[in-house]
Amino acid sequence: MPKKGDVKCRCCGRFVNTDTDGYWYATRGDLKDKPICDSCWYDDLAEPEAIVIFCEEGERQKVRVGSFSAEHEDGDEFDVNARDWGADYIRSLAWHRTDPWRGYFDGQTPQEWTRVISDWCGIDGYNLVGDLALFQKRWNDGDTPDFPAIVSFPRGSNVCSIIIDVMVPTDKVAAWQQWINAELDPSFEDKAESAEVR
Ligand SMILES: [Zn+2]
Repeated sequence: MPKKGDVKCRCCGRFVNTDTDGYWYATRGDLKDKPICDSCWYDDLAEPEAIVIFCEEGERQKVRVGSFSAEHEDGDEFDVNARDWGADYIRSLAWHRTDPWRGYFDGQTPQEWTRVISDWCGIDGYNLVGDLALFQKRWNDGDTPDFPAIVSFPRGSNVCSIIIDVMVPTDKVAAWQQWINAELDPSFEDKAESAEVR
């Protein structure tokens, strides 16, 4: 029986004994500002709605976005209420149902930004073609663009595929094209070759 002063987890319905157990208040999603017990809270971030990597000035900042909160890689809470393009995108992440069993998470492209990749690939690399392949090569080489970018991996119901969305400020679309094509640019290869000869 719940005691006076106990708090009901709005996710699983369990009563938390506030003298001995921890609980949290959701900072985002349908249960925003509602109490969530420790176990629901940690389970949520173990299987996030999206992993979002913000690029700025050549640095990557990874954020895990759950149904109740979002956190940085070091475990610090991400401020979902901030008024900036990163928080705007994270606040907008929501489930899109394609049928009763299937769907995917998606967020809104920030204002004055352009979605340059909206794609998916198999976990075995299937469908890794075109701009996605060019991007994947540079990204996996550890290169990070020096202009702002949102690289998002939202979860979908197909566990055998990965969804990838990339957004950049609209005035950086040309820079993005140059960045993903850098290694295909003949002048880049010439430079690399002549650097080797020297
Ligand atoms: Zn719970």
